[in-house]
Amino acid sequence: MSRQVEVVGGGPAGLYVARLLKLAEPELRVVVHERLGSDAETFGFGVGLTEATMRNLANADPETADQIRHASFAGHTLDFRRAHDNITLHGARNLAIGRATLLRILEDAATRVGVEIRTGAKADVTTTAGADVIIAADGVRSSTRRKLSADLGVGEILGRSRFVWCGADFAVDSAFFAAAEAPQGLFVAHAYPYADDRSTFLIEVDEDTWVSANLGGLDAVVPAGETDHASVEILNRVFEDALHGRPLLTNRTRWGRFTTLTLDRWSVGNTVLIGDAAHTAHYTLGSGTKLALEDSIALAEALRGESSVAAAFAAYEQARREPVERFKRLASRSQAWWDSYRVRADRPIGELALSYMTRAGNLGIADYARDQLEHVRTALSWLGDNVPIDPSMLDDWVLSRPLTSLNLPAREVDSHTLDRTCAHESIEWNSSRVWDELADAALHAARQNLSIPLLVTGDNDLESIGARIDLAERIRLQTGRVVGVLLPAAARAQAAAAVGAGRADFIVRG
Ligand SMILES: Cc1cc2nc3c(=O)[nH]c(=O)nc-3n(C[C@H](O)[C@H](O)[C@H](O)COP(=O)(O)OP(=O)(O)OC[C@H]3O[C@@H](n4cnc5c(N)ncnc54)[C@H](O)[C@@H]3O)c2cc1C
Repeated sequence: MSRQVEVVGGGPAGLYVARLLKLAEPELRVVVHERLGSDAETFGFGVGLTEATMRNLANADPETADQIRHASFAGHTLDFRRAHDNITLHGARNLAIGRATLLRILEDAATRVGVEIRTGAKADVTTTAGADVIIAADGVRSSTRRKLSADLGVGEILGRSRFVWCGADFAVDSAFFAAAEAPQGLFVAHAYPYADDRSTFLIEVDEDTWVSANLGGLDAVVPAGETDHASVEILNRVFEDALHGRPLLTNRTRWGRFTTLTLDRWSVGNTVLIGDAAHTAHYTLGSGTKLALEDSIALAEALRGESSVAAAFAAYEQARREPVERFKRLASRSQAWWDSYRVRADRPIGELALSYMTRAGNLGIADYARDQLEHVRTALSWLGDNVPIDPSMLDDWVLSRPLTSLNLPAREVDSHTLDRTCAHESIEWNSSRVWDELADAALHAARQNLSIPLLVTGDNDLESIGARIDLAERIRLQTGRVVGVLLPAAARAQAAAAVGAGRADFIVRG
């Protein structure tokens, strides 16, 4: 094990890895460099943590996990709201904690075991050059990553929507998504309580609203590092009811676009990246802090268990790549769902809720029905009467419904049945992006022949499967064309969810 570790960045990842390293090996010298002064306010309001993450934290460091749990706000359900509609998506599951509170706990925990924390100055790979190990935990805008980008193989993709991270000075009574149509455009709030007197309000707009509400014009005149008060004023009016007339809390609140990172490798020489510096997963999956803390656990374990720094970095990346990529995949579908919210904004709230719950592909109809059976049965009633009451029968029931407009005996058929029954066109689609220019061209082509169904085919990896369901939904909703998706038998739950949530008209087994 190395003798001196320098950590760049005192966010959740940096503070936690420092604590875990020093806890395991007290004679190690561990220094954390945080550019913000100790009296500076950190960005953001609350963050969500799942019970699965809490279990991981409890295994790695029971004392800190207890403190985090104790300071967290628990027990809120999740609702979907639109004008006067409200539907509960699921019961109480997650914890939420103020970002500042979490950082205070982690900083105290690190200091208690002897980590040196230096605040108020930026660090980088040159200022930390004497260390045996440099851990870059300097967040999504990591300067370490920028300096090493050629070796790390870095790619960045900017999200289509814009978001601001605000707060409220009261605890909303449940976590919720609220979609609001206002004269200025369509706005969506993601809100949840994280303390008795605090809630996070994250608000998103798409490009149309960005233009129609002139948010770009308002943002352009705000000096760097300051809050865009004019935009916040608009949001206060749009979400007046949800805010009970209270003004949003701000903290250097500006519109941003989510950056999705891709890195070929997470380390170069004696420098390794963790947390947001290494990877990002869209906030609508609420997993950024989870991934950052779990990286810290894996890296600390690897540095403890391996004889060389290179072997430790390889073991860390080996342990973390797969779970991180899985979350990124789910998060990117969740992001695509929210980015394209407008195309399904007018659908009945129950169908919207079903579509939301199954958007990322990790939950099926049956998973949602185990929590909210009656909502699911109502949402599926467009497919026929007698929706089963046993959640485990729902996928079969959905896929066995006939598609009378095509004379198909069931919504799930094999390719021979489709060929025999109706003329159709096919399009092969493997790109994960279904809102770029290539997808616009596919949409345009799909409009040319609306009278016969279109079958979307492609590869059988999880990313391609998700992408073609997303493309099918886009074509279906934006052209009105009847669209089917070719899916392998292993993706049966996704197939049923795609039909049940109106993302595809039919499925071809392949
Ligand atoms: C709008 C939004 C909502 C989110 N909601 C959630 C959520 O609900 N749940 C969740 O888990 N996550 C959420 N996240 C993500 C979460 O905030 C991050 O994933 C998490 O903070 C990552 O931790 P980190 O330690 O890697 O990076 P950060 O928290 O970004 O910490 C990096 C630290 O490094 C410091 N730093 C940067 N450069 C230097 C330098 N050169 N020298 C010294 N210090 C430096 C910064 O000041 C900062 O303190 C959200 C993010 C956004 C943008």
